Amino acid sequence: MSGRYALTLRGLCKAFRDVVAVDDLDLHLEHGEILCLLGPSGCGKTTTLRLIAGFDSPDSGSIRIGNRIVSGPGVNDSPEQRRVGMVFQDGALFPHLTVAQNVAFGLPKNAHRKETIADALRLVNLEGYDSRYPHQLSGGQQQRVALARALAPAPDLILMDEPFSSLDRGLREQLRAEVRAILKERKATAVCVTHDQEEAMQLGDRVAVMNQGRIEQFGTPEEVFHNPDTRFAAEFFGAADFLPAWQEGDYLVSEVGRTPWPSFWPTPWPGDRELQVMVRPDCVDIVPDENGAGLVVGKEFLGAFNIYWVQLASGSRVRVMMSHIAHLDTGTRVAVSPREGHRLLPFIAGRAFFNAPEYMENLNAA
Ligand code: ADP
Ligand code: MG
Repeated sequence: MSGRYALTLRGLCKAFRDVVAVDDLDLHLEHGEILCLLGPSGCGKTTTLRLIAGFDSPDSGSIRIGNRIVSGPGVNDSPEQRRVGMVFQDGALFPHLTVAQNVAFGLPKNAHRKETIADALRLVNLEGYDSRYPHQLSGGQQQRVALARALAPAPDLILMDEPFSSLDRGLREQLRAEVRAILKERKATAVCVTHDQEEAMQLGDRVAVMNQGRIEQFGTPEEVFHNPDTRFAAEFFGAADFLPAWQEGDYLVSEVGRTPWPSFWPTPWPGDRELQVMVRPDCVDIVPDENGAGLVVGKEFLGAFNIYWVQLASGSRVRVMMSHIAHLDTGTRVAVSPREGHRLLPFIAGRAFFNAPEYMENLNAA
């Protein structure tokens, strides 16, 4: 294994007539890491995966797997040449082949073949299932065979497209944990496409949030959750509300609390730039208070937690996560305050600029 990164995409573009599916996409992935490509339906996730696999050719840009350029000017390797393993949403096993024959597919015919198949089935906890046919397996078992088949030839890269989405919730969570453990045991590098934020949080070492053919943000799940770059990333990766905010002395102030005024922001603030703070449901607390500025207008039951919808004096709404032992009826007046240790993130017109002084240089120059 060589090359700085296991996978590098540079300036990747793909359009279908007038639909730009992948738009100047850059991405890199370390060896042995699992990347979750997360985004809403139609944002270009599957197209990106198909370009990496070699099922489609990009209009421009390059794809490097390890130190091999597999797609780029004058290069377009076939899927077989790319040495990638694929796992699809519905397993896509060959129905007329047994489990062992499915796993054998794509393996070189050498002396180790039997051993390799047995190893792969052991890895996915399906020892003794060799002679079963796909229809004799549960959905979760079928997906494990698909993973065994993808891993057996020891590919440089595993590509998975919504691999758990046809399974029910309990099984999905269990299989997700198993697949992560299996990929880690093999030290496999993998890209997994999903539209499910929970899946991306639990499966991915890194997350790339995609929006309209582009990467909106790339980082660890913790980085993207706690420091979203954009409103889109914040809302797609966890719940977030955005409240109007304004400058008061050394603070950026909102209806639910304040945060220090970023030192590199100009003072006074140019009035035409919209300021906001991001509020996640765990960031604020509510207590019943007749004189409180908030009004409980709705409640979502989540088992251990309730999410309360709280309307503020300005008419803005925030969601507040509370333990199930708090009982607040709709119509209750509440005081809203920030929770200890939580930050309200400053945003300008839908972008987080807490850590981007270069934006302010542009602003000052404008
Ligand atoms: P995702 O997997 O994120 O849901 P896709 O990559 O499948 O999104 O699709 C991205 C966009 O490209 C969509 O607008 C889709 O309709 C379009 N698209 C994808 N494949 C084709 C195709 N073969 N022909 C025409 N349009 C396509
Ligand atoms: Mg898709």
